[in-house]
Amino acid sequence: MQYDVVVLGAGAAGMMCAFEAGKRGRRVLLLEHGDRVGRKILISGGGRCNFTNLGTKAENFLSENPHFAKSALARFTPRDFIALVEKHRIKYHEKTLGQLFCDDSAKQIVAMLEKECAEARVETRCGVTVSSVRRDGDVSGFVVETSVGKFTCESVVVATGGLSIPAMGATAFGYELAREFGHAIVEPRAGLVPLVFSVEDKARWCDLAGVAFDVVARAVVQEKTRRKIPAFRERLLVTHRGVSGPAVLQASSYWRPGEEVSFDMAPGLEVFRPLLAQVSGRDWNSAYTVLRTVLPTRMAERWVRVRANASAGDWTNAGIARLESDLHAWTPRPDGSEGFAKAEVTVGGVDTAELDARTMESKRVPGMYFIGEVVDVTGWLGGYNFQWAWASAVAAGAVA
Ligand SMILES: Cc1cc2nc3c(=O)[nH]c(=O)nc-3n(C[C@H](O)[C@H](O)[C@H](O)COP(=O)(O)OP(=O)(O)OC[C@H]3O[C@@H](n4cnc5c(N)ncnc54)[C@H](O)[C@@H]3O)c2cc1C
Repeated sequence: MQYDVVVLGAGAAGMMCAFEAGKRGRRVLLLEHGDRVGRKILISGGGRCNFTNLGTKAENFLSENPHFAKSALARFTPRDFIALVEKHRIKYHEKTLGQLFCDDSAKQIVAMLEKECAEARVETRCGVTVSSVRRDGDVSGFVVETSVGKFTCESVVVATGGLSIPAMGATAFGYELAREFGHAIVEPRAGLVPLVFSVEDKARWCDLAGVAFDVVARAVVQEKTRRKIPAFRERLLVTHRGVSGPAVLQASSYWRPGEEVSFDMAPGLEVFRPLLAQVSGRDWNSAYTVLRTVLPTRMAERWVRVRANASAGDWTNAGIARLESDLHAWTPRPDGSEGFAKAEVTVGGVDTAELDARTMESKRVPGMYFIGEVVDVTGWLGGYNFQWAWASAVAAGAVA
């Protein structure tokens, strides 16, 4: 029951870290409370796992410390992970924006990680819930208490992930453990998650569920803040409860309750310009005719109806300019999000202020490491979250 390293959680980060440490000759135990390893990998990327993004940069991540991820990301790059994928002869392809997916199945990524673990003599035990970790008396090292007994080790790596998808085994264990050892937690919240409209907006828009179109989406921040809020040009999908689609998921990670989101519904276009050119025939019908050329018919029709109900129609040049600017700034104020049950990631987590950016080791508790999603580093949609899991895992696996 004595190991050099015990890794808690056999997700993407835990498995990667376990075999990196094992390759150094460390005796590694990998503990997972689910009945199998890598469950989130299996459901990721629609079953094909978007395992990295070729354009990964620190700017693609949210964190209270935007510089924290730089060191690990620079030392284990998308190219390094691709080399591993190619070593295992897994075929992959690039979708849009540098996103790499398996041609066949996410199962291949899990099988690859399992094989690497086996080769590095990692002992993996599923169906084991970790209940506590404590210092091993005066000796440097830890005692890990689990549902199958105690294990002692020199180093413990916390890779228990975030709170998203409790049905897949997500727990708050990593945060609780970090708190117990004196670490601060950046309040976890759901990220990459569909947004839920207010009652009024639901009545206005949600019968259009299934309608999708390109927008530029961005969370509108009202508080005075230094937060930099990026805009995302991708697809928006109307749902039965609000909005989703890649553009909305991306913006949701930056959105806070009570704030608005803004959608430019016709990016880069001057949709109503033809109306300005004509003196007569300026009316809702002509507005609908031009809008239909850039939005799905049902959305164009609804948008015109909602605007027509809100105003009698001011067809002066200034009125048409206002119509144009409205279209580029649809700003609903969502009632909330679909929450952790539907979120792809958890934003927030173990505060990076007391972690070593090179090794992921706790500055408070030597020998304790935090990697992957449990840390306050959260990627955009598009393979960035796995790249962070791999990179932070390698950083810790090289020294733990
Ligand atoms: C539907 C979905 C699709 C996604 N698609 C992508 C994608 O295509 N590309 C991308 O980059 N990211 C994607 N993500 C995000 C990505 O899956 C996560 O960021 C990544 O899995 C985090 O890895 P991790 O190892 O830190 O945590 P996890 O993968 O969550 O692993 C943590 C593990 O710890 C175990 N655990 C928790 N508590 C305990 C305990 N007390 N004792 C023992 N074990 C415990 C859990 O069961 C789990 O297996 C997706 C997420 C979801 C939900």
